[in-house]
Amino acid sequence: MTRFLLFWVCLLVMGHKASAQRPAYRPVAADLHGSAARGCAETRLRTSVRQELTTPAHRRLMDRYDVKYYKLDLALENNTRAVAGSVRLRARSGGQILDVLAFELHPALLLDSVLVNGRRTPAPRREAGDVSVTLPQAVAANSLFDAVIYYHGTAPNGSSAAIGNALDTRYVPRYDVNVTWSLSEPFHAYEWWPCKQVLTDKADSTDVWITTKNPNKVGSNGVLTRVVPLPDNRSRYEWKSRHPIAYYLVSVAVGPYLEYVNFANLPGGVRVPIVNYVYNQTALSDNKTEIDRTPAFMENFSALVGPYPFASEKYGHSMAPIGGGMEHQTMTTQDGFNFTLTAHELFHQWFGNNVTCASWEDIWLNEGFASYGEYLSLQALATPEAARLWLDQAHEQVQFRIDRITGNRTDTPGGSVRVPDTTSVGRIFDQRLSYKKGAAVVHMLRYLLHDDVKFFRALRTFQTTYAGRTARTTDLQRVFEAEAGRSLGGFFEQWYAGEGYPIFSVRWNQVGAICCCKPPKLPPCPP
Ligand SMILES: [Zn+2]
Repeated sequence: MTRFLLFWVCLLVMGHKASAQRPAYRPVAADLHGSAARGCAETRLRTSVRQELTTPAHRRLMDRYDVKYYKLDLALENNTRAVAGSVRLRARSGGQILDVLAFELHPALLLDSVLVNGRRTPAPRREAGDVSVTLPQAVAANSLFDAVIYYHGTAPNGSSAAIGNALDTRYVPRYDVNVTWSLSEPFHAYEWWPCKQVLTDKADSTDVWITTKNPNKVGSNGVLTRVVPLPDNRSRYEWKSRHPIAYYLVSVAVGPYLEYVNFANLPGGVRVPIVNYVYNQTALSDNKTEIDRTPAFMENFSALVGPYPFASEKYGHSMAPIGGGMEHQTMTTQDGFNFTLTAHELFHQWFGNNVTCASWEDIWLNEGFASYGEYLSLQALATPEAARLWLDQAHEQVQFRIDRITGNRTDTPGGSVRVPDTTSVGRIFDQRLSYKKGAAVVHMLRYLLHDDVKFFRALRTFQTTYAGRTARTTDLQRVFEAEAGRSLGGFFEQWYAGEGYPIFSVRWNQVGAICCCKPPKLPPCPP
């Protein structure tokens, strides 16, 4: 277990290696005290009371097809959770004929009709959020088919039932504006649109068309291809994305936004627009300094782990009062901007969006890495001391639960980075384990390779190997083992699946600049 002692020593060394040549950002308390992790986690917790309910039988029915494409064509306003319209699902049947189409839709939403390959289906069977329709004509095995689901209703309200608000609307007093937005992670997209909530089945592409009253704008995924003027003072915003996307990353934000665009410059002359939908001019004035950091974050991440995955489309932010950030693909929803929150949500575009955890058990592949993106940004754009401090705080937050009011610290050695209960939203988005310990484990992997060329090459390999797909922790392990040239089974067993951390008593003596340590006697390492 000497490696663990070396790990802690290494943290000190690595912190001092960081370059201080760039313009230095001076972090504020919010950057270091875990506000980004809290802002990321609590948006989900606020939205997510419902547990994963789909029955195994329904899941098996949904597994009989592979989603290729979704088109949402909905009417939404900035002051109501009312939703009406259609979702087109294009999919390929599996190895057997498909005689039943299964999907998920919250019972609060009424199904008007379902057409499959242009033919109207009999009345659907509904049980809680599970919907299944018998097809008038079965789809042959391995065949593309097309379903259009017409529905309407008011998205459920968490304040009146044991369910969340995946589509929510609120007045923002500070800016005197009303907005409606979606937040579907981890399994709440079905509260506002019919879909298949299976992480491993990404749609290859999407269109999101939203009709709304002027002067609302609608932020969503991909590229805004056009805004179509309609009668009755309405417009239709037509967003198009041709990148694979997980169901929970499909998003909308509706409000009378002001658009503010800046650009990141990536290698090869690639210029990526960063489209910001802010509440109004006052909100822009309040947040412009922070929003303007986004290009530098993107340029730094692109240099470290590979080009921004959605450079052919855009990045952006839509403001909504969600109490933090949610990394919707190419259009993060954020209620405000600070250094670490903006960096965290942007790094999700690589870790979470381009490569998505294949199971909520592996959420640290999203959140641990996004949190580490905060550290990488401080390293590159602030000072080595700021990055060092961030990591110290992360370690402290792993080791202790700190009462936010009293400041009292309680030892908390338990809990694994692996999520043992994937139906518990609170456990999935545990800030201490999925975020902070996850980030610490990423940093330990960096130390294990002890070579930043290898470490960042491993991250780039992970990104390119699983681009547009999902991955498990074992996939990441294999990538790192290839760089390390040895098994990391013991490491992942201890730090991903295992709990706690070792505590050492070390005798040391310092003479001038030389510090001598006498390692303790330790039991042998596991293989
Ligand atoms: Zn996050």
